[in-house]
Amino acid sequence: MWRREDTLPIKIGNIVIGGGNPVAVQSMTNTRTEDVPATVSQIKRLEKAGCELVRVAVPTKDSALKLGEIKKSISIPLIADLHFDLSLGFIALEMGVDKIRINPGTVPNRQILKDLVLEAKARNVPIRVGVNKGSLPDSYSKDREGLVKCALDYVKLIEDWGYTNLVVSIKSSDPEETVNANVLLASYVRYPISLGVTEAGGGWRGIVKSSIGLALALKEGIGDTVRVSLTGDPVMEVKVAYEVLRSLNLRRRGVNLIACPTCGRCQVDLESYYQEVESALENITVPIDVAVMGCSVNGPGEARLADCGVAFGKDKAVFFIKGNIIGTFSPREAIKKLISYVKEAERYKDENVTAFLLSTEGDA
Ligand code: SF4
Repeated sequence: MWRREDTLPIKIGNIVIGGGNPVAVQSMTNTRTEDVPATVSQIKRLEKAGCELVRVAVPTKDSALKLGEIKKSISIPLIADLHFDLSLGFIALEMGVDKIRINPGTVPNRQILKDLVLEAKARNVPIRVGVNKGSLPDSYSKDREGLVKCALDYVKLIEDWGYTNLVVSIKSSDPEETVNANVLLASYVRYPISLGVTEAGGGWRGIVKSSIGLALALKEGIGDTVRVSLTGDPVMEVKVAYEVLRSLNLRRRGVNLIACPTCGRCQVDLESYYQEVESALENITVPIDVAVMGCSVNGPGEARLADCGVAFGKDKAVFFIKGNIIGTFSPREAIKKLISYVKEAERYKDENVTAFLLSTEGDA
């Protein structure tokens, strides 16, 4: 089996996936692609959340013709999602997209696929062979073996046409099947794998299904880029993806919030403080551990272990930085100081966070 350290590196715009590079976070817009202002605005929000690759649907000629304008207005690689009408792929390539995705289940005929592959090859634009159980061709069995065979058949077809700048994905709405299919796939192909549980739904259901599917495969060493598929605002997909990657110690970005569930010992409204901290620090990008804890049982321990933290007591809170007590304040004052420290740390960016925090110890 090819683990992510051993997959072939593939360059998509300014991002390299595979070959042991950090697992890249991607998402897909849900605006009408033809609506350039709405699409660009959503991509900007995705970029701000940490999205590193973005895919857009290209269902019409108008949407294909707008890709150039979209690409000029964004900073991350743009991927064209193609189904049924592959002639739109030629326009997408002309517009400068950084990758195209084709789905074996929606390829109208092999000749146009071959022409498109040769055009992508001439431009050195990577192609993702993206198999989805919901659109698996009838000639394949609707199980793990069928999903993998379909992916392998199309990979072989493209290789036979002389192109190997490929990414592969197999997605199912069943997390376990997604994991099993990708484990099998990784035993056959060395190309980077784009990982995701498709049609996972929205809200907490979608988050649980996606997280389980991603985590089990990532833990096996599979997955060079991930997309969490959620019904709703795609910014949530990016947040969930980073939380999954952070939980597996694969990526660190932004605030890692450590907070207790509260219990009968808690004497403050911890939930509202937690929400205040979460919302105030939403756009922080430096990797930093922040603890918000309800009482003296586990509070001082967790707050001490984090980069900074607050452990509440009755009408008071102890504020820690890097394991040291900075002082005891009112709960409101402690939260204010916590937020302000993290925001200041953001100004110093990643590698200087610790230095900043230590240099400001005792200033409170
Ligand atoms: S830290 Fe204290 S308040 Fe929070 S769950 Fe534990 S015992 Fe309860």
